[in-house]
Amino acid sequence: APRKLAAGNWKMNGDLAALAEIDILCDAHGAPSCDVLICPPATLIHAMKARIGENRIAVGGQDCHARPSGAHTGDISAAQLKDAGATYVILGHSERRADHGESDSDVAQKVSAAIAAGLIAVVCVGETEAERDSGQTLDVIGRQLAGSLPEGANASNCVIAYEPVWAIGTGRTPTTDQIAEVHAFMREKLAASVSDASGMSLLYGGSVKPSNAAEMFAIANVDGALVGGASLKAADFGAIIAAL
Ligand code: 13P
Repeated sequence: APRKLAAGNWKMNGDLAALAEIDILCDAHGAPSCDVLICPPATLIHAMKARIGENRIAVGGQDCHARPSGAHTGDISAAQLKDAGATYVILGHSERRADHGESDSDVAQKVSAAIAAGLIAVVCVGETEAERDSGQTLDVIGRQLAGSLPEGANASNCVIAYEPVWAIGTGRTPTTDQIAEVHAFMREKLAASVSDASGMSLLYGGSVKPSNAAEMFAIANVDGALVGGASLKAADFGAIIAAL
């Protein structure tokens, strides 16, 4: 069965002072029964990892470059994330796809680099509101999955996060039936390209909060969540971990 994962994406939020939230989280959930991951801004990875110490909470990046090193000002390689203490990296988040023009093939190359560096890639897919309204959701998800996963992707080195773009930071979520439909489709679609698709963790993301987490986690093929805003406060993220 896929591993259960509660993942937090701090996006461009947080500073050294915000690591006080990590102390609170470690006190309450330092030995969780599911996998727990926090992806802070890259500037905080090393300090966050040190602060977590022996507690069972993983740290990840929010993006990496496809190349291992070189003249790429402002970019960070997968190996550098690993060196700083990361064990995961989010790739292909819709904010990267929209704000930085990342294509499926760009994402696939980054996932390849992450795997080569020994990181687990959290690969994000999701339709826009216009795509859902015009009945293209499964086409879009199928295309993104096919294009964003490189040769060699498997259940040990990749996690998929379904994040409908219109549900991110809006307080709106798909119905449980809509999430179930996409997750069942992803499981089936992945089986065609990945040998151990039945063991791959499929996360839901988009306006997950303490009040709806249990409902999300009860949906078939939902193995956890990728949480934005509600991961910033230990009390909220802790409640979501407890629901998983
Ligand atoms: P919110 O939980 O703030 O909607 O963000 C979801 C997200 O984009 C996580 O990657």
